[in-house]
Amino acid sequence: MQHRRLLWGILLGAVAGAFCGWFFGREMASIAWIGEFFLRALKMMIIPLIIAAVISGIASVGDLHKMGRIGGFTVVYYLGTTALAVSIGLIAVNLIQPGTGVSMTSHTLPQQMASGKTAGIGDIILSLVSPSLVASAAKLDLLPIIVFSILFGIALTTLGERGTTVARFFEGVNEVMMKLVMWVMYLAPIGIFALIASRLGAAGGGAAFWREVASVGWYVLTVILGLAVHFCALYLVLVLIAGRGRDYLVTLLRALVTAFGTASSSATLPLTMECAEEAGVDKRSVRFVLPLGATINMDGTALYEAVAAMFIAQAYGIHLDPASQIIIFITATLAAIGAAGIPEAGLVTLLIVLSAVHLPAEGVALLLAVDWFLDRIRTTVNVWGDCVGAAVIERYFLRSGNNPATE
Ligand code: ASP
Repeated sequence: MQHRRLLWGILLGAVAGAFCGWFFGREMASIAWIGEFFLRALKMMIIPLIIAAVISGIASVGDLHKMGRIGGFTVVYYLGTTALAVSIGLIAVNLIQPGTGVSMTSHTLPQQMASGKTAGIGDIILSLVSPSLVASAAKLDLLPIIVFSILFGIALTTLGERGTTVARFFEGVNEVMMKLVMWVMYLAPIGIFALIASRLGAAGGGAAFWREVASVGWYVLTVILGLAVHFCALYLVLVLIAGRGRDYLVTLLRALVTAFGTASSSATLPLTMECAEEAGVDKRSVRFVLPLGATINMDGTALYEAVAAMFIAQAYGIHLDPASQIIIFITATLAAIGAAGIPEAGLVTLLIVLSAVHLPAEGVALLLAVDWFLDRIRTTVNVWGDCVGAAVIERYFLRSGNNPATE
């Protein structure tokens, strides 16, 4: 009941935020700090939560062989849904052709993007490890932290009896963190209100925002349509494969609206885990599959990158044959894996896709004005993808009864 009230509060906060940002424009800048407060409170939870969750999650699976199968399947499943998202994006952009006829003015790339060299596959693999865990934690660079925690959890399982105290310790830390996350969640209605109002206000309010959207209207429409189709496809997966449905979606809504408000799947992760646990997903799936998903599984980002690259090609009048589109398919999938779960990270990794098919990086300038908005929608789909993944993995590996499902 309390959670329902919180959900209504969050939805109201989002709608009121959009309303105030739309009508009061830049005046809303004065409440930006409230949104920042909420965001920081969420981020403060991430590192201890992930470390404790992943280690205790793996330790509670116990059996290394089983853990290996779950891990392998999780990665393959996430790759599969990301590939599906890219395919949907490519189909939509080929059918709608949003870039054809877009008026081209001369564009220059923002300095920070123009100077940065694009990352290659090697960089993506290198990002699995870190020369300093502390530095990674400070930057909220989650992938090496997760990799370390997975290895730690695996090593702990091999210790048998001798590892029990350490396993219990992380179990306890995890419980404490989840309690803290509950408290932070009470800030969500006002936090999300402030985040949305101040961001829409910073874009100049409703009228200015609408003009920006209208100038690349078909592109915005194509991305949103593609994301909506993928969202529904994931819902089907949830129903047909995981055997869950509307209740799951409703329970997860708090996390999804927060994803929209924060534009960061990493910052949303604590709430995603809380909501999934509340929806009754097995703790082991929540603790392992969700953190991994928030870092490597970005369906929305992958779909957006494929659409954006094709849009730029169309706008520049560059024809991309099927072979080039296959390259876009592969690089968009990899670039999304490499993208961090932070605002507009996808815009930066889009450069990998563009350079793979020799498209002008300056084309990104076409997308800049509306990216903050599309970022929020794709982040919501990213988080939804992780949640459906957690339900699917639970269904196949953890609800079978050969391990106590929820202790
Ligand atoms: N903001 C997205 C996320 O956190 C990443 C992106 O820019 O696409 O999931």
